[in-house]
Amino acid sequence: MKSFFVLTLFPEMIEGTLSHSITGRAIKEGIINVEAVNIRDFTMDKHRHVDDYPYGGGAGMVMQPQPIYDAYKSIADKAGKARVLYMSPQGRRFDQKMAEELSKEDSLILLCGHYEGVDERVIEEIVTDEVSIGDFVLTGGELAAITIIDTVSRLVPGVLNKEESYENESFSDGLLEYPQYTRPPEFMGRKVPDILLSGHHANIDKWRREQSIIRTYQKRPDLLEGAELTDKEKKFLNTLKRNDEEK
Ligand code: SAM
Repeated sequence: MKSFFVLTLFPEMIEGTLSHSITGRAIKEGIINVEAVNIRDFTMDKHRHVDDYPYGGGAGMVMQPQPIYDAYKSIADKAGKARVLYMSPQGRRFDQKMAEELSKEDSLILLCGHYEGVDERVIEEIVTDEVSIGDFVLTGGELAAITIIDTVSRLVPGVLNKEESYENESFSDGLLEYPQYTRPPEFMGRKVPDILLSGHHANIDKWRREQSIIRTYQKRPDLLEGAELTDKEKKFLNTLKRNDEEK
């Protein structure tokens, strides 16, 4: 079982969101375990404060180190030698490759900041990785932690069933996924491509692979540099580029 421990001021955000759909099923089946630890439970302040004014002045409040450290200590043994990820806009950008890397860990600890962030000394003391989900600023780390747990979980064996396999999905081989269709065969005058109704699996696979290359070229050409393409596919891509140049 893979365990995620989330240090947060809003445990109900974590538990509430992840208890639905595929992650909810995986938790019920004991394939993954998500434990949200309320940092506020570890404050020694009689008013249960967990933040204070920043030294040196400036706007907002900063989360104090002691409640975070004690919250971490409360699960550190259970989590083994788990990496501690601080959710931060200053961190390494999260992507599918990092999700694959993290899916190999038995346990992960995710620290969610709030307000202006977290006292630097507790980051230095316990954090192994700073992780950002994009170049924008959230109000707190909870949505980032949920995003990471959701993405990593679906790579854990047994979380997705056969029909939900992630193998051909966007980014799995550096390409975006081909277009998908379901019933009805015609909608608002738009027909499902004939090949998908042909029942010829080899041709369908070839068409899908080409569509993936076309889509990636049109929508995210930056991904093509790292994509795994056969010589034949590289030629196909060059033809696409040439056709574009001739337009
Ligand atoms: N003052 C901080 C700065 O400028 O770097 C931003 C603090 S932000 C308002 C509050 C918390 O939200 C952060 O401590 C972090 O945990 C989380 N957060 C905000 N943006 C994030 C992002 N892009 N990725 C991951 N976590 C983020």
